[in-house]
Amino acid sequence: MNEHRLRIYRTEGVVLARRDWGEADRLVTLFSPSHGKLRAVAPGARKPQTRKSGHLELFTRGHFVLAKGRTFDKITQAHTEAYYPRLRSDLQGVARAALACELVDRFVPEGDTHPPLYDLLARTLERLDAGEPPDVTMLFYQVRLLALVGFAPNLTTCVLCGQPLMPADHAFSHDEGGVVCMSCATPGLRLRPLPLPALKVLRFLQAAAWPTARRLRLDPFTRRHVTALLHQYTAHVLEREPRSARFLREISAHDR
Ligand SMILES: [Zn+2]
Repeated sequence: MNEHRLRIYRTEGVVLARRDWGEADRLVTLFSPSHGKLRAVAPGARKPQTRKSGHLELFTRGHFVLAKGRTFDKITQAHTEAYYPRLRSDLQGVARAALACELVDRFVPEGDTHPPLYDLLARTLERLDAGEPPDVTMLFYQVRLLALVGFAPNLTTCVLCGQPLMPADHAFSHDEGGVVCMSCATPGLRLRPLPLPALKVLRFLQAAAWPTARRLRLDPFTRRHVTALLHQYTAHVLEREPRSARFLREISAHDR
């Protein structure tokens, strides 16, 4: 086989992150269904006349041709499939897409392939761009992402005594990754309240398919509660709050 051909490969992917590299290059983090999360250099991408630069915007989904390199592979061609213009037209949309991408970047180690998570990310960007209910889209995304990366919270039995949960208000333990029943919820534990409506919403998001999930209507209290719980639990698992989660929280605070 021609050795040259082995050094070139093609993949679809989403641009998760990028930063300046050297004089005129960019270092781009791609999430590819076939090659996983990878970092590659886009030579000359910061020169304004380079056609390639427009195809390497954050959150775009595209097709890429890469050449194997010693430290980083090189992006030799890039073609945008989906730019998500509507999503980009407001700051909250940008913040949500940034959070979706940052979570994948933080949870997925370099080189790991995860096709179901790639699908989830691509569908989520499409939904945000198509004007689907953004809060439900993001809650659904976070709950399903946690499950796909192995951190689904336990919502069916008490994480301390193992008893099935009664339909009542309970508590949530970030440390234990799930619900604590009221008999086990003693004052010394680090717990946050989990009202029954919030528990029901979390269970629904874990189980429902998107066509059903998208019809979820949330009262403002439950929406805030579930949003805060998922942000805090995710930050706890990652041992740091994602930058874009803080940004989204700050800009969302204005309309609450
Ligand atoms: Zn218990």
